[in-house]
Amino acid sequence: MLYISTRGQTRPHTFSEAVEVGLAPDGGLFLPEKLPSIAEKLPSWSGLSYAQLAAEFFTLFAPEIPREEWHTLTAQAYSRFDSPDVAPLRKITDKTYVLELWHGPTLAFKDFALQLLGLLYKRQVQLKGKKLAVLGATSGDTGSAAIHGCMGQEGIQIFILYPNGRVAPLQERQMACTGADNVFAIPVPGTFDDAQRVVKECFGDVDFVRAVNLSAVNSINIARVLAQCVYYIWAWLRLPEEARATVEFVVPTGNFGNVMAGWLTQQMGMPCGSFRVATNQNDILHRFFSTGEYRQGEVQPSHAPSMDIQAASNFERYLYYLMGQDQERVRQVMVRMKAGERVTLPRSQGSFRSTRMDDDTIPKVIAQMWQDWQYVIDPHTACAFTDMAPDRVSVVLSTASPAKFPEVVTEATGHEPTHPSLEALKSSALVTHPMDATAEAVKAFLREHATA
Ligand SMILES: *Cc1c(COP(=O)(O)O)cnc(C)c1O
Repeated sequence: MLYISTRGQTRPHTFSEAVEVGLAPDGGLFLPEKLPSIAEKLPSWSGLSYAQLAAEFFTLFAPEIPREEWHTLTAQAYSRFDSPDVAPLRKITDKTYVLELWHGPTLAFKDFALQLLGLLYKRQVQLKGKKLAVLGATSGDTGSAAIHGCMGQEGIQIFILYPNGRVAPLQERQMACTGADNVFAIPVPGTFDDAQRVVKECFGDVDFVRAVNLSAVNSINIARVLAQCVYYIWAWLRLPEEARATVEFVVPTGNFGNVMAGWLTQQMGMPCGSFRVATNQNDILHRFFSTGEYRQGEVQPSHAPSMDIQAASNFERYLYYLMGQDQERVRQVMVRMKAGERVTLPRSQGSFRSTRMDDDTIPKVIAQMWQDWQYVIDPHTACAFTDMAPDRVSVVLSTASPAKFPEVVTEATGHEPTHPSLEALKSSALVTHPMDATAEAVKAFLREHATA
């Protein structure tokens, strides 16, 4: 199994190579050269635990890592989740199920991929005998999940930049109160884009990258997409048999990583119905799926900040399939989009529809769900609860715990959501390393603290 770039100008990579470099050198995203079929495996997978299912799935995608080792890796990756099911599927009504993806250490779905990615980094370090410096920028959830995937892992140091004062207080505490000496939480002045620009500049310095053995943590690593496929299969196997063929997965969406994973499992032969891309007021993807036009607007901050995105970085993976796997066409379209040209894409058909939710509606939906079902949801998950399919079963992917967003949830329900891990954070010491938003400052800091 080899991995090719959506833009076709990178030699095929093995799984481990693709995971290590993240972004393909030609600027494209990695995808399996050919998707394996899982259709005939599904019956035998129904009795497996979550970690066992993940191991069997990854064995198909990275046979260079022995099956036994995959079982060890996934058992460890999912051992820190606080539900025995890892991803419990909750029935709300006969027609509506919720897949709770927030039982990991940072209470958001990104733990599913980043707990595993931390262990894959550690494995590389052991194989190569060389320390690794992981660098990334975050607006909140990815940074905290990445830190919790890497903290305490021998041979890895992790450096996460975030815009000072612009991440939620609890998210900052998840990054800065770990007590781990291989974790560096770095607030910088400005916005997320400033933090992101500094990280990109650091990666642009090839000598520096080599000197500290730098690796990027971002939303486009193929290991993240594949790790997210597993819970779609897990949920599908737990539905009543008569619901499986038509079920609609409803996915609160920002960068298109989560819903892309679901769609890929369908392409691999999991016979499900469809996917709904649920956006907040930052609705570039809703506009695309409803009109065919893909045009960026300004980001409008919302109650669901992890979906405040106007350039969905994983969307290029879908474009690759939409354009008949024609890599040259993908490359040209991406170049034109980057130049700000208006491009018309082929209309997507079949498996996707989309919805959008105004910011004013989000607290109302949280209140309604509490009133009707005594079920508390977070503002990202709330975006899914509109225009439910009337005639078949829906599975809503719940992407974060309500306890991560206490202000809006308390106002909507009258009850303050809590979680023991967040309570503990409130009294831990905050350790940050504030610096200027310049590549010089960050590189100097890494040269001092990262020893390859
Ligand atoms: C990251 C995130 C999303 C968006 O997921 P994508 O894969 O970027 O579409 C939604 N909700 C929460 C809570 C998140 O952290």
